[in-house]
Amino acid sequence: MTGRIGVYPGTFDPVTLGHLDIVRRGARFVDRLVIGVTTNPSKEPMFTVAERLDMVRRETAGVGNVSVVEFDSLLMDFAEREGATLILRGLRAVADFEYEYQMAGMNQQLNDRIETVFLMADVSLQPIASRLVKEIARYGGAIDKFVTPAVAADVAAKLAR
Ligand code: ADP
Repeated sequence: MTGRIGVYPGTFDPVTLGHLDIVRRGARFVDRLVIGVTTNPSKEPMFTVAERLDMVRRETAGVGNVSVVEFDSLLMDFAEREGATLILRGLRAVADFEYEYQMAGMNQQLNDRIETVFLMADVSLQPIASRLVKEIARYGGAIDKFVTPAVAADVAAKLAR
């Protein structure tokens, strides 16, 4: 496999319109974008990793150069295994900065051959966060401005159980 490969790691619990916008933007400047869905049990996700993989695959099926895989290792090892030269992260307002800054800095120390690149989602999608989507849904609020109809149905089904 030749060309520039990027990985976009995340929990995607659930995948939002913000994530999907970052995927579309990112996919434009790499030859292949590998979305890495982390198992990350410490976050106690609403959806299992299998469910999140299915969801992200379904929602990105229209983007040609994207593949979706699970990973359960150090991000830099995952990126190296995929042959990636860059890691894509989305950056929202100041709240994300401290965490992302620290992570990018430490990852640079671990592997200086792989660059972290930050993208901003469309302005209208920037405030969206999976955590808040879940919170709104738990209190019976509408989440259709933040996720696709299929994901909204997945969340509703999960909460109905
Ligand atoms: P993680 O647990 O790794 O933070 P998330 O699924 O919450 O995983 O997010 C994955 C990436 O997508 C992160 O870089 C996050 O900052 C970014 N992201 C999430 N929502 C948005 C958004 N609305 N706009 C831009 N970037 C976003």
